[in-house]
Amino acid sequence: MTSFSYEFNTPVYKGKSSFPTGLFIGGKFVPGSSGKTIDVINPTNGKLITSVSEGTEKDVDLAVEAAQKAFETTWGLKSSGSQRSELLYKLASLMEQHHDELAALEALDNGKTFGWAKGTDTAASIGTIKYYAGWADKLSGQVIETDENKLAYTRHEPIGVVGQIIPWNFPLLMFAWKIGPALATGNTIVIKPSEFTPLTAIRMGSIINEAGFPPGVVNIVTGYGQTVGNAISSHMHIEKVAFTGSTLVGRKVMEAAAKTNLKNVTLELGGKSPNIIFNDANIDQAVNWAAHGIFWNHGQACCAGSRIFVQSGIYDEFLKKFTAKTQSIKVGDPFEIGMDQGPQVSQIQYDRIMGYIESGKSEGATVHSGGARHGNEGYFIQPTIFTNTTPDMRIVREEIFGPVGVVIKFEDEEDVIRQANDTMYGLAAAVFSQDINRALETAHKLKAGTAWVNCANQIHFNVPFGGFKQSGIGRELGEYALHNYTNVKAVHVNLGHRM
Ligand code: NAD
Repeated sequence: MTSFSYEFNTPVYKGKSSFPTGLFIGGKFVPGSSGKTIDVINPTNGKLITSVSEGTEKDVDLAVEAAQKAFETTWGLKSSGSQRSELLYKLASLMEQHHDELAALEALDNGKTFGWAKGTDTAASIGTIKYYAGWADKLSGQVIETDENKLAYTRHEPIGVVGQIIPWNFPLLMFAWKIGPALATGNTIVIKPSEFTPLTAIRMGSIINEAGFPPGVVNIVTGYGQTVGNAISSHMHIEKVAFTGSTLVGRKVMEAAAKTNLKNVTLELGGKSPNIIFNDANIDQAVNWAAHGIFWNHGQACCAGSRIFVQSGIYDEFLKKFTAKTQSIKVGDPFEIGMDQGPQVSQIQYDRIMGYIESGKSEGATVHSGGARHGNEGYFIQPTIFTNTTPDMRIVREEIFGPVGVVIKFEDEEDVIRQANDTMYGLAAAVFSQDINRALETAHKLKAGTAWVNCANQIHFNVPFGGFKQSGIGRELGEYALHNYTNVKAVHVNLGHRM
């Protein structure tokens, strides 16, 4: 068995992380069948952290077999809601015990600052698991009378083996969003973390064992999307796939599901979220939230408020204050004290974002602030603001997934709503106004799965999250997510003696 060991000796965290590695199948860490590995790179300096198994289609088959066996023998209808609840609470409590270690691994692997990884990612992951622990023993159907001698009742049965594919921007949090509702409802899981950020998922394998989950309930297969991800989406014995990632790949997942066993699909995809700031907004508040909206997690958030529309009456003042706020963001080593922004996750993402910055320049937009690399090593990019854009520019239309926002002046309300909705995406939107009627009317007119009023990027495990239009299908979090993981069975009962 292979293992990983890393000594953190940093200003914000000192500690050691050691755990077994490999593919986590049937409760054991096993080598991948190909013997090949994937390098895991530290985005802060571009150096190798470790290598993890490159899973294959054959490994997905083995994981599905383990998950099927667990579903039939120890989980699924063989488990009670209270047993599942107890195990999920145990899991959350063990995650709490390893809170700092999980946050440090996330910062190392993804490049987000230790402070954010601890205060947001890990804390919200623990909260999500606890939240679904609370649901596991509260699932119930309905009793429906059909006529005087008959009734029907519904059962919310687990689907079976579910496949889950997650991205690199919130590796642990997406893991928790996925496994929480699936386990609470009694499904067994084959999950694939991103090839860029597999460490916290692998660490969770041993924590899941320690919590006492029966072998095979959760299986973790590291590997590439075209192989492991595609094998999950196409597998004949996986009856549901939940995917978080780009719209491009979401389409492939749905296609694979349609071509094979028509598995149930939920998709959480990309965004180009508008942030509308009216003349009557509290400017300082709007500046702070707008900066959080676009620069949180280095702009690598699906719901990032990347299009900032500001009404003409406050445009100059807003832009001045927003620029000062942007330039005060501390970019640097995620393990240094007081850092706000670390490196982008990978060389590929770095190149992609710099490509968008170049396209903005060549299409005639103005780089109002930033627009260049930060430092000499690693994948750091300055927080960047573009102005003087036009609606057809790539930086206005496409998801950049980096610390790059466009600030657009608008005059009237109807026009800004039209512009805000002029996108194939519909994940989130924010509106700033001190007139509650204007704020709520605007929130209702925006075509987005989440609308924030006088705030941005507020996501909570008990509130549904998901997209309109090409930002996705289905909802994660809250009670809504439970529906993704159950099949409803209607049982009709004849209470009388007649036919
Ligand atoms: P991605 O689509 O490239 O990859 C996501 C996952 O899919 C990875 O695990 C990858 O290996 C896998 N994958 C790649 N090709 C595949 C294929 N052919 N079949 C099956 N799986 C495949 O996305 P990413 O770059 O990891 O993440 C960034 C994207 O995720 C952004 O577009 C962002 O908006 C989106 N995202 C959305 C949400 C949400 O909740 N809506 C949350 C986080 C990220």
